[in-house]
Amino acid sequence: MLNNDTQHWLNFIGGEWKDSTTAIDVRDPSTDSVFATIASATVDDAEKAIQAARACVKQGLLTRQRPAQRAELMYRIGREIRNIVEEGAVLASRENGKSINDARDEFTEAARYFEYYAGIADKIEGKSIPLGEDYMDFTIYEPQGISVQIVPWNFPVSICARSLAPALAAGNAVIVKSPELSPLAITLLATACERAGLPKGALSVLAGPGRKIGAALVAHQETNQIVFTGSVPTGRSIMRDAAENSVPCIMELGGKSAAVAFPDADLDQLISSVRWGIFFNAGQVCSAMSRLLVHRDIYDEVVSRVAELATGLSIGAGKDNPELTPVVSMQQRDGILTICNQAVEDGARLVCGGAAVEGLPGAFVQPTVFADVTTDMRLFTEEVFGPVIALTPFDNEAEAFALANATDYGLVAGVFTQDVSRAMRAAQALDAGQVFVNEWFAGGIETPFGGNRLSGYGREKGQEALYSYVRTKNVAIRVSR
Ligand code: NAD
Repeated sequence: MLNNDTQHWLNFIGGEWKDSTTAIDVRDPSTDSVFATIASATVDDAEKAIQAARACVKQGLLTRQRPAQRAELMYRIGREIRNIVEEGAVLASRENGKSINDARDEFTEAARYFEYYAGIADKIEGKSIPLGEDYMDFTIYEPQGISVQIVPWNFPVSICARSLAPALAAGNAVIVKSPELSPLAITLLATACERAGLPKGALSVLAGPGRKIGAALVAHQETNQIVFTGSVPTGRSIMRDAAENSVPCIMELGGKSAAVAFPDADLDQLISSVRWGIFFNAGQVCSAMSRLLVHRDIYDEVVSRVAELATGLSIGAGKDNPELTPVVSMQQRDGILTICNQAVEDGARLVCGGAAVEGLPGAFVQPTVFADVTTDMRLFTEEVFGPVIALTPFDNEAEAFALANATDYGLVAGVFTQDVSRAMRAAQALDAGQVFVNEWFAGGIETPFGGNRLSGYGREKGQEALYSYVRTKNVAIRVSR
């Protein structure tokens, strides 16, 4: 059912706002009711976006100007995003379920990405390579060309900005495929880019089914790069399609990340990290602390403190800024509850939660704590993407690190200890793209982020990410005498 205040949104294609004959319903997960629609892009729209991007690249709309001018454009985009933080927070909270405060942080972080990469846009410098007096040799960093970026629903705005900002800073034209469940806030982001004066074709944002529109963009012969953040099965399918045209990818896939707590850990610090690690954004975070490995000496105490934390969280709709918000959809909720039921059947000890929240109509899942989870259980190895934490005891350091590494993922890992040498041994032993010590989610937009093994490849964030958005050309010159 459409409400009276239903809004209809359009796609941004080559600098124009365009409607379509079909639309996607956008639901508020706290009530499971439709509050907006967005035009569902067609394959013809995807083609138009590619042609506009190609024209932008060919005409050098981002690359002819001096990089300092491009940096100024990036700063302007950052400023325009800051102007829509409040409007964007309400929208992102409503379409995704997250709290207004978290949605506000997402927009602010998006602005920070543009400001950060603005500062580097005029410093993408090649090298001079000595080959003796008879040669001059140097490298140039050229943009990849057309960067297709496919975004998931959990942090659509910040994940979009994370790839869009370095890509534009390096002079690429970008086509964003927004997620079906949360397409609106990204579309609002496009209005900020438009207002800042981004040239026509430098950005298109399309909503539409991944398997149709996402796949068409991925398989297009003129696509020069694919940046994908999402699930492993979709990532695999995209990698196969990308291989056809030998297109480089950045793959940011899922995780099943573990924190390891030793007896000398500061337990207040640990519990505060659990609060954010697994219950932030209702646990729908690729780098969530979905496993907690605890030394047996402190295991019972930690289990009861985590349960106390979980049962004490306020729960409600994002607009009221509670500590736990709904998950993104009823389907997501049901999937999470199925995994919880399976965990009970597998013999895990359900300490609290494991069910929907009675009395709330939307996609709410109780904060859930499982103890005594063993490596043979699905809950130990499979991503849940909800507010569900699995605790496992260990007896010594070697066992702890082996347990942490005992999944196919390798996104993040954490260690809680006061012993610096043990923290360093953990940093060496844990097979993950980033290791946190004494604080989950430590780091920021300045620090490289990405996964090992099934969690993907390539790095986003920081200066490191910039070099994924360029390709190196070497120029070797023979000097005649
Ligand atoms: P998903 O894989 O279902 O969808 C992601 C995007 O891919 C959507 O925009 C979708 O429309 C599109 N898509 C689907 N099929 C496609 C195809 N064949 N070709 C091209 N595009 C296609 O993932 P999701 O459910 O939106 O997001 C949750 C997943 O994302 C979780 O596994 C999570 O761990 C992962 N994630 C990873 C990171 C990271 O940085 N590593 C960040 C956030 C989320």
